[in-house]
Amino acid sequence: MQANRRRAPLPPLLSFAAFAACTAMDQTNPSVLVADFGTAASGQPATLWTLRNAHLECDVTDHGATLVAVRTKDRAGILADVVLGFDDVTGYQSPANQYFGCTTGRVCNRIAKAQFTLDGYTYRLAANNGPNSLHGGAVRSLDKVHWQAERVGDASAPGVRFSYLSRDGEEGFPGNLRVEVTYRLEPDGLRIDYRATTDRRTPVNLTNHAYFNLAGAGAPTVLDHELWVDAERHTPTDDTLIPTGAIASVLGTPLDFSKPLPLGLRIGELDATPAQGYDHNYVLRAATGLRPVARLRHPTSGRRLEVLTDQPALQVYSGNFLHGQTGKGGRTYARRSGLCLETQHYPDSVNQPHFPDTVLAPGEEYRTTTIYRFTTE
Ligand code: BGC
Repeated sequence: MQANRRRAPLPPLLSFAAFAACTAMDQTNPSVLVADFGTAASGQPATLWTLRNAHLECDVTDHGATLVAVRTKDRAGILADVVLGFDDVTGYQSPANQYFGCTTGRVCNRIAKAQFTLDGYTYRLAANNGPNSLHGGAVRSLDKVHWQAERVGDASAPGVRFSYLSRDGEEGFPGNLRVEVTYRLEPDGLRIDYRATTDRRTPVNLTNHAYFNLAGAGAPTVLDHELWVDAERHTPTDDTLIPTGAIASVLGTPLDFSKPLPLGLRIGELDATPAQGYDHNYVLRAATGLRPVARLRHPTSGRRLEVLTDQPALQVYSGNFLHGQTGKGGRTYARRSGLCLETQHYPDSVNQPHFPDTVLAPGEEYRTTTIYRFTTE
């Protein structure tokens, strides 16, 4: 269903001139626009914020602290929205939504057999992906709830901070978890800062689940994009996509993007695997520090996306389970027409003691940053 995109009263930052020019991309005064994004099934109204500067515009909503759109230019200066999504909150609450652009957690990716043992107690989660837990649960995972929003930053770096209190026991996880996700524009990119604190030990692994297509969301494939990932190893999985515990080399295999290669070149070799394409957790080469970890190029349009993160791993998912659902503006999202580059810890870390630790303790702060940088060539 199409949202009624009424513009809400303008926040004080905006001048009338800025508002009048709200659809133009060439204006140099960065700003924030606010719009109605429909009403959730609970009756809760959702809001859409547009963060904009001379280089790009990003839409984010308080439903699921979700990245709804990124509009960026190609080498000829033509704008396209390069993120898959829906026109309003109703779309995000429909079965067609496969975690489009959302904040994913408390624990993104999979937890084996939907359970883990911590401090002598076994916690049982919803098995929403075969026998396993996927992306934080079935009903009140972070992508499905309403977050509080506040404007942050200034005209040169406009942002929105989303906050949510996930209560002790929510989706089976221990501890009251206070989570903050801040989206902020940088001159040529979108910065996402994650923060969390807890009052009991609990696993935390947050990511963003944006599907990118640099030809424009709704283009039929991402297999014509070229990918580089700064990784020589990955965590192999069993038939249910749970890590076996091994760390294996990608070099020379269809998973090898240690040198830039087209996504479509060897994906056929993965057709008959449980992942049905790319759906693999790469162990990033440099273990720490905010650094470039992946680059995606679309040679035809000249758009490029660079991913920077301080996380140890990257899930590369080529949208193998997209099935032609209808998204923004009536566009169709075909199988493999979006690529997720999900910065995170290794899947199932809470059950695999030799993987880097994901348990957050009271008194600690979970802090991580990911930047999506958009350029042209
Ligand atoms: C997972 C896929 C899953 C998809 C759901 C990805 O993060 O790796 O296996 O199907 O999310 O949208």
